[in-house]
Amino acid sequence: MSTKQASFYQSVERNFDKAAALTNHPKGLLEQIKVCNAIYQMNFPVKIGNSYQVIEAYRVQHSHHRLPTKGGIRFSHLVNQDEVMALASLMTYKCALVDVPFGGAKGGVCVSPRKYTEEQLEKITRRYTVELVRKNFIGPGIDVPAPDYGTGSREMAWIVDTYQQLKNGEIDSAACVTGKPVSQNGIRGRTEATGRGVFYGLKEMLSYPNDCKEMGLSPGIAGKTMVIQGLGNVGSYTGTISIEEGDAKVIGVSEIEGTIYNPKGIDIKKLIKYRKEKGSIIGFPGTKKLENRDDWVGMECDILVPAALESQINKKNAKKVKAKIIAEAANGPVTADAEEILLKKGIVIVPDMYLNAGGVTVSYFEWLKNLSHVRYGRIEKRFDQNAYTNLVSTVEKLTGKTISKRERTLLTKGPEEVDLVRSGLEETMITAYGQVREIYKRKKKVKDLRSAAFINAINKVASDYMTLGVFP
Ligand code: GLU
Repeated sequence: MSTKQASFYQSVERNFDKAAALTNHPKGLLEQIKVCNAIYQMNFPVKIGNSYQVIEAYRVQHSHHRLPTKGGIRFSHLVNQDEVMALASLMTYKCALVDVPFGGAKGGVCVSPRKYTEEQLEKITRRYTVELVRKNFIGPGIDVPAPDYGTGSREMAWIVDTYQQLKNGEIDSAACVTGKPVSQNGIRGRTEATGRGVFYGLKEMLSYPNDCKEMGLSPGIAGKTMVIQGLGNVGSYTGTISIEEGDAKVIGVSEIEGTIYNPKGIDIKKLIKYRKEKGSIIGFPGTKKLENRDDWVGMECDILVPAALESQINKKNAKKVKAKIIAEAANGPVTADAEEILLKKGIVIVPDMYLNAGGVTVSYFEWLKNLSHVRYGRIEKRFDQNAYTNLVSTVEKLTGKTISKRERTLLTKGPEEVDLVRSGLEETMITAYGQVREIYKRKKKVKDLRSAAFINAINKVASDYMTLGVFP
C-alpha cells in the first residue's frame, strides 16, 4: 500500500472494479457504466458587498441510461471536480439499488455557507440555477437537483423559483428540483428521509438472528450502542429516530468543535437544542469531552455512524475502529484502503449507496407528486377511513363488544401523506436489503456488502443498457 491517499473518485472506481470483476458483463459495457457521461464546470461572478467574486461550481451527470438524472447540490469550500464526480457516480448505483428510475448526478458550489449572508447565498443559488438552465442541465425530465451537505429546503425553494421565472407556463416545472419546502410543492417526510432510511436499513439488517450472531451481536436494534459523527440533517435524524423508534442508545457524538460521550446515552433532541443555543455540543449535561476530536473513530460501540463527509475513515485511522458495524450514513465515509483493513478485522460495513438511499427515495416520491399534481392520500384517505370505520362497527355489532376510542382511532385511520411516504420508504429499504443480502450470502466470491450492493446495481444498469439496445 502506498502512503498516498487515493482520491474519492479513485476510491469509488476501485470499489466498482472490485465488484465488476465478479460479474460477467462485457468490458465495454462496464466501462460505459463506470464513466461520467457529462461534466459541466462553471465559473460565474456574484456581487458580494462592493466587489465581485468568481464562484466555481459543478454539475456532473454520471449516467444517462435513465432520465432524468438525480442528485443533490453541495455547498462547501472543499467542493472540487473529483468529489462531485465520485458523488454523482454513487447516485447512479444508489438509484439502481433502490429501484428509483433515475440516472445519477451531483452538483457542487465551492463556497462555505457560513461565510455568506442569507441574501448572498440566495444570489449565488439563483445564479447557479440560471447557469444550469442555460446549458440545459436542469428540468423535470433532464436533471433534478436536491439538498446535500450545506444546502436544504431553503436553497431548493430559490432554485424552483428561479427555474419557474425562466420557464413560465411549464406545467411540470415544480418537479425540476426536490427537497422543497412543503408549502412550495415539497413532500412531507423528505427532511427526515435519509436519517429515517438509515434507521430502517439498520433495523432490517439486525432482524436476521444468524447474521447478528456472526457479528457477535444480539438481534434487533434495541439497546445497540451508537456513535454518530456529524449532527447535520442525516446524523440528527438517524440518532433521534433510532432512539425514539428503535430504542437504540447513542453514546457518542462528534462535531467540528469536538467529541462528547456518555455511556448511559445522549438525548439527541436535547443536544441539538443545546448546540443551537450555545453554538457547541461541548458541555452538554451528563457528557464528557474526548481529548482528541478525531477519537470518535476508535470509540467502543456496536454501530459507528459516520454521517458527515467522505474519507473520514481512512488508512491512517482505520486500525483504531472497535465497532462491529460501520453504518455509512454519509457518502463515501470509508476509503477503499480503509475498507481493506476493516474487512480483515471482521468489521461489517453497511454501504452508503444502500444505507443513505432514503433521501433520494423520498425525492422520487416528491417528483411523482409534482408530476401528478396531487398530494398523496388526498384521494383515498377519507374513503379508507370510512371503510375501516364500517368494518369496526360491523364487528362490534356482531360480537356485541366495543373497543376503546383510542383503539378505534388507531384501527380506522386513513393514511396521511407522511404515513404513505414512510411506508414507501420502509418497503424500499427492506426490499433493497433483501436483494443485497441474497447476493452476499449466495455468491461465495462476494466477501462484503458493498461489493454485493455494487453487483446488484451494476446488473440493473447493465440490463437497462441492454433494453435500450445500446449493448445488445
Ligand atoms: N443528496 C442526497 C444523496 O446523496 C439526496 C439526493 C436526492 O434526493 O436527489 O442521496
